[in-house]
Amino acid sequence: MEELGDHKQLMREIVALSEANTWEVAKHEWSLHEIGECDEYGDERCLCGHPIREMCWLTNRLNGRRALVGNHCVTKFLGIRSDLIFTCMKRLLDDSEKAMNAETIEYAYEQGWISVREMEFSSDTLHKRNLSFKQARWRRAINERVLSFADLRRASRRHELRQSKLEPAAAAV
Ligand SMILES: [Zn+2]
Repeated sequence: MEELGDHKQLMREIVALSEANTWEVAKHEWSLHEIGECDEYGDERCLCGHPIREMCWLTNRLNGRRALVGNHCVTKFLGIRSDLIFTCMKRLLDDSEKAMNAETIEYAYEQGWISVREMEFSSDTLHKRNLSFKQARWRRAINERVLSFADLRRASRRHELRQSKLEPAAAAV
């Protein structure tokens, strides 16, 4: 379990990258872009200053800026349930016949990894333990694709984003 860093610093940094001037408004400008995992704990730091392993790249919907925040701070302070996605990915790595949870289904769909039909099937069978043979095979195929696309370590390398190199992107609107 990672410790929490300085949450006042996190709020300050997020507000500085946001359009709004207050934390309460600014936090709603951010959504989850992608999750990834460092090779080693502490390879990256959260905006709060704390070393992290589980990384969340956030995007500001209004100005397109990016921020790298640790899973724990995202869950605790931004109210985005990235923790449930990390937990689910780990469960699927152990057993790809388990159901994805709602947060992971939504994430996989937003990433373009699963089709509308696959999203609907995964949602409809979320609480079903006794799938037919065909359904079980379909679920496994979907889950294995999600895992291969998610490849948390690869996602990290692709970004290679560090706070000091953060540059404002062009306005997303
Ligand atoms: Zn943090």
